[in-house]
Amino acid sequence: MVSAVVLAAGKGRRIGLRKQFARVGGLYLYELSLKVIKGAGIEDVVLVLPPGERVEVEGVKTVEGGEERMDSVYNGVKAAKGEFVLVHDSARANLSPDVLKRVLEAEGDSVVPAIPSPDSVLYDGKYAHRDRVLLVQTPQKVRRDLYLKAYLRAKGKGKVYTDEGSLLLGELGIRPVVVEGGRWNFKVTYPEDLTVLRRLKLERRVLFGYDVHRLAEGRPLYLAGVKVADDLGAVGHSDGDAILHAVADALLSFLGYGDIGTVFPDSDERWRGVRSTVFAEKVLELLRERGMAVSRLDVTVILERPKLGPFREDMIRSLSSLFSVPKEAVSLKAKSGNGLYPGRVEVFALVEVQTISGLK
Ligand code: MG
Repeated sequence: MVSAVVLAAGKGRRIGLRKQFARVGGLYLYELSLKVIKGAGIEDVVLVLPPGERVEVEGVKTVEGGEERMDSVYNGVKAAKGEFVLVHDSARANLSPDVLKRVLEAEGDSVVPAIPSPDSVLYDGKYAHRDRVLLVQTPQKVRRDLYLKAYLRAKGKGKVYTDEGSLLLGELGIRPVVVEGGRWNFKVTYPEDLTVLRRLKLERRVLFGYDVHRLAEGRPLYLAGVKVADDLGAVGHSDGDAILHAVADALLSFLGYGDIGTVFPDSDERWRGVRSTVFAEKVLELLRERGMAVSRLDVTVILERPKLGPFREDMIRSLSSLFSVPKEAVSLKAKSGNGLYPGRVEVFALVEVQTISGLK
């Protein structure tokens, strides 16, 4: 069995911020790595945190870090149960499933991923032969009992190692098995690394939504959460707000929930006569859980009467507040339908979404 130890105990001496607690796409850096590690089926996972720091992550044990990186790893490895332990720096938040797979599949008491150096290397005033230089990354995989033994030996001598591979080599003479790392498996070290990571993780999508409702006398008409008429309204199980339905539909299908009829079925009495603003709020909550937000709304309404001109500002303000998108990023076009649309309201909506960090 392989356990994983994810290091998030760094003090941020170089970057000047505790980068493991920086957010990208709504997630902390350590959460990005944890997702990939859990996705590979590793169940015994230990997260090493700065002393005194508490976070709860489902299905993850947490322990406190120590003085040096090596001491933090030791605390994590002690708490792990597997015969082998995978040790990963949470700052390498762009870990790919491929790199992880290569490390997991390689056999050996010490496995490290590495990449060739694109640059020349000066070492102690002399040029090292570039073709013989490898840059070592994480995750590294070590046999747990050997790691513990090597650590205690090093500790006894007051020696400090910066990674697992060098510790096992230095103390036990075990040469690491090298597998191909990843060019993009970089470590967030300086502020600009965080910018690069955010760009890499930035996802932007334009979604489409549509809705149409029949109009009937003697009921109010709601559009974009605003009452625009008292006497000729949309027939529907809820308040029949076709704009909110079209936008919610676009978002729900993107999120993998099918459509508005799947999530708020008209067979469910809870949704009878309910204001569609409730749907909008729930859908936005689901979007946020995914680390995304609405960045632009472009809505076209086709309606013969009433004329929407007088309500336009209110409708834009309402959409802006309901979907938490700046007013300037909401565009609303009303068409009369040139006599082709009596008795109905029809809506086309383009909804742009993007990862939350991209908005910062
Ligand atoms: Mg509808």
